[in-house]
Amino acid sequence: MNSVYKNLSSCGRHLLASAALAFVMLPVSAQAQATSEVKADSKSAATAVRRIAITIDDLPFETRRLKLADEQRATKAILATLQAHKVKALGFVNEDRLLVKGEVDARIGLLESWLDAGMELGNHNFGHLGFHGSSLAKYQEAVLRGDTFTRWLMQERKQVPRYYRYPHNQTGDNAEVQKQFEDFLQQHNYKIAPFTIEHDDFTYARVYEDAVLKNRKEDAERLRKDYLANLDRAVNTFETMSDEMFGRQVSHILNIHASLLNADMLDKMLSKLEQRGYQFITLEEALQDPAYQLPAGPSRQYGMSWLARWARMAKKRLSVYGQPDPEEWIMKWDKELQR
Ligand SMILES: [Zn+2]
Repeated sequence: MNSVYKNLSSCGRHLLASAALAFVMLPVSAQAQATSEVKADSKSAATAVRRIAITIDDLPFETRRLKLADEQRATKAILATLQAHKVKALGFVNEDRLLVKGEVDARIGLLESWLDAGMELGNHNFGHLGFHGSSLAKYQEAVLRGDTFTRWLMQERKQVPRYYRYPHNQTGDNAEVQKQFEDFLQQHNYKIAPFTIEHDDFTYARVYEDAVLKNRKEDAERLRKDYLANLDRAVNTFETMSDEMFGRQVSHILNIHASLLNADMLDKMLSKLEQRGYQFITLEEALQDPAYQLPAGPSRQYGMSWLARWARMAKKRLSVYGQPDPEEWIMKWDKELQR
């Protein structure tokens, strides 16, 4: 089991409305960059078709209590679904999750199955260390330790890891340390993997795993329904933010996690995105959108969508900031699990 993770809250954050507001109202020292250029430059690229890259964090697998065989089955399901929808996803690895006695080879095999399925792997650092409150030296060490096996597996396929995803999406406590770390990433040939859309999948996933393991079938069914509805609400919100910020839909990047819930729900999630007019693109293609050239600023503790970060740097007020919280019953159940 991934004991390192047992007592950690998962990848993202629970963002209360007040925290969101505080984030947005924080004074910014950097010069706000006008977004009108981005609008004008990208007018030709703006089409009715919506585009989205799929990124999946916490590989090989995020779980508290599942066994290796369950993780293998779930990984297979995730990859089969991605392939069925012709998605070339980017999977972000925490290599410390490989280090389980007696299971190291099998866990490396899980990563290999992502590459064999035509997916790309990136670095999510060793230990899922957050930038907030961490020294730069310690944080950089976690990055360097984070790609040993990934690099080896990719080299066999004449690839190299190219993207770094910040755990908890924390990009630094101030502009200076953020810049120092970005320079470090550049020296190591890493590009930052931002995201625009999330929907608290890690919260639903924790509750879902518990419901499944306790054989609470009705709860699991209710959760699956709520989860899908929440995706719609979240996408509505981030589309509104993109419209208000740029007058168009940017090439979006979805951030989800390798979990049992997503193994069971990804097909419906991708179908929903297709119904909404989305075409799946690679992370590399998404990053060609000029929006991603805009400054995003240091996150401090709260790792919000890049749409909120761009708005803050441009001193632009939006009508919404980030996705709605999961349903009350999910939040309550999750809180009990954290005790
Ligand atoms: Zn993560």
